[in-house]
Amino acid sequence: MPRILITGAAGFLGSHLCDRFIREGYDVVAMDNLITGDLRNLEHLQALPEFTFMHHDVSTHIHLNGPLDYLLHFASPASPIDYLKIPIQTLKVGSLGTHNCLGLAMAKGARMLIASTSEVYGDPEVHPQTEDYWGHVNPVGPRGVYDEAKRFQEAMTMAYHRYHGLETRIVRIFNTYGPRMRLNDGRVLPAFIGQALRGEDLTVFGDGSQTRSFCYVDDLVEGIYRLLLSDYAEPVNIGNPDEITILQFAEEIIKLTGTTQKIIFKDLPKDDPTQRQPNISKAKKILGWEPQIDRAEGLARTYAAFKALPEEILYKQEHRDFKDYKKA
Ligand code: UDP
Repeated sequence: MPRILITGAAGFLGSHLCDRFIREGYDVVAMDNLITGDLRNLEHLQALPEFTFMHHDVSTHIHLNGPLDYLLHFASPASPIDYLKIPIQTLKVGSLGTHNCLGLAMAKGARMLIASTSEVYGDPEVHPQTEDYWGHVNPVGPRGVYDEAKRFQEAMTMAYHRYHGLETRIVRIFNTYGPRMRLNDGRVLPAFIGQALRGEDLTVFGDGSQTRSFCYVDDLVEGIYRLLLSDYAEPVNIGNPDEITILQFAEEIIKLTGTTQKIIFKDLPKDDPTQRQPNISKAKKILGWEPQIDRAEGLARTYAAFKALPEEILYKQEHRDFKDYKKA
């Protein structure tokens, strides 16, 4: 049975990856410091003999007994609101955390895949974004702590690959959604669905003309699975190229949820990218991958999962308003 370590395992993406690798017959070691992750995302796996949870912060030295075949480094805060609240941890997990993971992978002879991001392209001047675009990032803006940590993470990973011959993979993840997103983490989809469920107005930042392209989580996991098992070490975009404006997205959520609330406009956060769409030619060619689940289907599944959440989670007052949060 191959053994895999997944960092950030209690988070949205980490927990879906745990599910997939358990299903594929792997022995899964799940690691998380639970700053933004939630053990409820892993509850259903706890009793399995092939599943182990380790409560650990990967920004400090990682000790793991036994062999290791694969390592997925997914630990990191991942919403703009989180970067503002925990900027130093965000920088540390992308840099020191990555260094610790690379060292562990070297010591164990494991293949390592890192979760990079479309944020390495910043506010992109090339559209759609191809992997050979170097990006347009403000290092000292509020998103800089995430963007630069992820850019450093890629550089460090390529250095281990080139200098030490370590087997590495780099996935650049574009906006992804699905069940288990943290309801109040400030990201647009949980924000809108949460607002609709609570009977609040939907908050569109700016005039809503900025675009994003949303990928359903199962499609992303399939792309990551294929990339890990491929022999390709350069970065690969994984995302759904179906691009819409945030205003259109809000209208879709209103239709989906049947809410009678309206759209209200709030200030656009600093350095909010104006457009984002992955060019996925590389993933198609190298991995034979493209998304299978369209937004109507993915949103219906996600809404069903959010509707089933207990009231105390729905009404948890964590990070509700971007402006209040900035003052904190
Ligand atoms: N956004 C919004 N209202 C919200 C939350 C987010 O209009 O309540 C916008 C945000 O300004 C951005 C887009 O939705 O343009 C996606 O934001 P998110 O934080 O989900 O991810 P990003 O792609 O910016 O990292």
